[in-house]
Amino acid sequence: MPATEQPEQIDVLASGAALPSHADIVIVGSGFSGLAMAVALKRSGREDFLILERGSDVGGTWRDNSYPGCACDVPSHLYSLSFAPNSDWTSTFSSQPEIWQYLRRVAKQQDLLSHVHLGCELERADYDGDTQRWRLETSSGPLSARVLIAGAGPLSEPAIPEIPGLEHFEGKIFHSATWDHEHDLSGERVAVIGTGASAIQFVPQIQPQVQKLHLFQRTAPWVMPRPDRKLTRFERLLYRHVPAAQRAMRAIIYWGRETYAIPLLRVRLSPITEKAARVHLRRQVPDAVLRAKLTPDYKPGCKRILLSNDFLPTVGRPNVELVTDGIKWVGTHAITTADGTERPVDTIIFGTGFHVTDPPIAERVHDADGRSLAERWNVSLEAHRGTTVAGFPNLFVLLGPNTGLGHTSVVVMAEAQVTYVQRALEYMDAHGIGTIEPRREAQSAWNARVQRRMKGTVWTAGGCASWYIDHNGRSSALWPDFTFRFRRALSRFDAAEYRLAPVAAPKPEPTPTEVAA
Ligand SMILES: Cc1cc2nc3c(=O)[nH]c(=O)nc-3n(C[C@H](O)[C@H](O)[C@H](O)COP(=O)(O)OP(=O)(O)OC[C@H]3O[C@@H](n4cnc5c(N)ncnc54)[C@H](O)[C@@H]3O)c2cc1C
Repeated sequence: MPATEQPEQIDVLASGAALPSHADIVIVGSGFSGLAMAVALKRSGREDFLILERGSDVGGTWRDNSYPGCACDVPSHLYSLSFAPNSDWTSTFSSQPEIWQYLRRVAKQQDLLSHVHLGCELERADYDGDTQRWRLETSSGPLSARVLIAGAGPLSEPAIPEIPGLEHFEGKIFHSATWDHEHDLSGERVAVIGTGASAIQFVPQIQPQVQKLHLFQRTAPWVMPRPDRKLTRFERLLYRHVPAAQRAMRAIIYWGRETYAIPLLRVRLSPITEKAARVHLRRQVPDAVLRAKLTPDYKPGCKRILLSNDFLPTVGRPNVELVTDGIKWVGTHAITTADGTERPVDTIIFGTGFHVTDPPIAERVHDADGRSLAERWNVSLEAHRGTTVAGFPNLFVLLGPNTGLGHTSVVVMAEAQVTYVQRALEYMDAHGIGTIEPRREAQSAWNARVQRRMKGTVWTAGGCASWYIDHNGRSSALWPDFTFRFRRALSRFDAAEYRLAPVAAPKPEPTPTEVAA
């Protein structure tokens, strides 16, 4: 399937039923995390849950990012849900249409659609300690819930930098995550801002079409070869008929990828990766001047290592200009850089990433005193075991603080969290618990351990400024360890780490005299 072709519509639209006034559990988001959580609830016999999704379909990241060349950079046998292997992947690194189609199929096959409310955005959530309920305001109306699970995505809010004059630009502007497929780039002068994971995928796709491509690079990325290939018919048949073979392949990829963490966790080992990346760069960019511009000045992994076989050669094409001077302002039809050069452009495409360390969902979720998670996190994002937050009872955050990865599939992390949430819910049910909230000291101890592990990693000692680091200079996005350690840490729920309160007795109905008063 060509990269930009969108999958055939499966009838995934939810029933369209009105939002009920209460649900036991509300999940926000229908990407990998939200769907994994919903399947786990369903399999444990829970039916009283809803998934609120602001988009018009399920799929999260993979519904929204439809830019040309969009694909995963972790092999699909691992970058998929452990309980829903897909024998039909057509290549080792699947393209966006296939991944989106896969997620839609999971939602349908796992019978989740009647739980999904599409076009329903969570606008505000307030915890009410008296009733032990979350009061939710959504674009489809209000409702309450005992438990709120945020699966709103670590990379779901596109970030566009503030550039003087941008608002006066009269050409076309869009972000890679909201690609305008109606807009024809043929013969245009196009500015691409950013050389991150998305840009290196779409730049080689659009370069042959455009008249001129100005690629604005703030920092060069380390690029490694992408060992992508088509999966053969034999492999697909094997995986379909011998599921154990696919499980074995997943395990091989999983453990292979865990070894990728070693030079990231020990900055002194990073020269091994650097040597391989330099060989790739030398092979792909013969021009020494261009190569110098494309050589990063920090350790590989400090910013995400990118996989591509066609990005570096594309930068050397005659109609591509790599611009390393900072942008000073944007005029009505041109971009001017710090050295005073003005470049006329018709379209500006932002490949500038997402709001990772300031997620908008945090502005919307409030504790019993009306303080938002964002206010609480003003110091830095912090959660207990990446999942629960002191001061916010009965809230679980999937792919929350310090759960991101530089070396393997984050779906592994989300699934570990799903197991943890399940254990917590089982504990609550078994012991008549109405609210759980992590003890501050437990949360602090967890985060102190995480930050201790962060020392000596490429993320803190690699010499770069990256989106992994928040406004306080703290690394609050990434998990600084192997994923098997995270899985182990979340495999059981330790009630001693939590403040627990029994289920509150229902308030007596007011007497007629009280009502009259
Ligand atoms: C282009 C791209 C490629 C990537 N490739 C990889 C990869 O190869 N390997 C890897 O490990 N990771 C990759 N990632 C990271 C990716 O974000 C995660 O792997 C994963 O998809 C996250 O799933 P999620 O369900 O947590 O979040 P998302 O997929 O972002 O889903 C969140 C959902 O929540 C919804 N939502 C948000 N706020 C609200 C609200 N207030 N009300 C209602 N709904 C809301 C959104 O509409 C969205 O549908 C990639 C990310 C991008 C952008």
